[in-house]
Amino acid sequence: MTTPCIITVAITGSLPTKANNPAVPITVAEQVESTQAAFEAGASLVHAHVRNDDGTPTSDPDRFGRLLEGIRKHCPGMIVQFSTGGRSGAGEERGGMIPLKPDMASLATGSCNFPTRVYENSPQLVDWLADRMRTHGVKPEVEAFDLSMIFKAVEMAQDGRIAGRLHVQFVMGVKNAMPVDRDVFAFYVRTLERLAPDATWTGAGVGRHQDTLQRWALDHGGHLRTGLEDNVRLDRHTLAPSNAALVERAAALCAEYGRHPASAAEARALLSLPATA
Ligand code: ZN
Repeated sequence: MTTPCIITVAITGSLPTKANNPAVPITVAEQVESTQAAFEAGASLVHAHVRNDDGTPTSDPDRFGRLLEGIRKHCPGMIVQFSTGGRSGAGEERGGMIPLKPDMASLATGSCNFPTRVYENSPQLVDWLADRMRTHGVKPEVEAFDLSMIFKAVEMAQDGRIAGRLHVQFVMGVKNAMPVDRDVFAFYVRTLERLAPDATWTGAGVGRHQDTLQRWALDHGGHLRTGLEDNVRLDRHTLAPSNAALVERAAALCAEYGRHPASAAEARALLSLPATA
């Protein structure tokens, strides 16, 4: 029996606009509807940012709260992960929603360059976010934009700053950070397996490399991510009509590799999360 593949759907992000693709969900109602369709297509984990109604990124805990409530109601069992990413607020603002107790929250364990700015995660902020997550029983997903962030995550898991089984996402294809490179990817996987043998991981490719990373992840026994946050296109010529369409394509890829999309219950077991939210 092969390991089921957890499909993460990153529904909104903080950058894509309706002008990039009208299917990008912006309001909480649109986000809940888009998540439900993606859930029904095979996604078991939703990664979410929130926006103001005019589309600008925000870290407003009230919006996160309404989104959590909507997803819990319409997508029973789905794993909800909130972004603490740096585009939607400054410093500790980024963790203001953690007390809402989503299942997971993203945690970048170091700094790097992004397309037009520095993605700044000071050691103090990383520790503060990890501490909030531990206090509220929220599982981190480590966002590894380079190799040093994997080592940092392992160190934090070993000394207890990250509780429970480590889950890491390898992010490739963000301009000025780590490009999509197969040898580096394989080295990431080997390094994590060597340093933290019980860790789980996801491969995330940004932009036109989305399905390249999905294939590599499936091939190496990991989990995958899709969604309009990373890629608003189905292919060079076609806009993705929805998050669900991207999830359907990822689910079809799973079959090519003899894997099946994890159900919410399977995904919870794989990530050592409680069986119910
Ligand atoms: Zn994100």
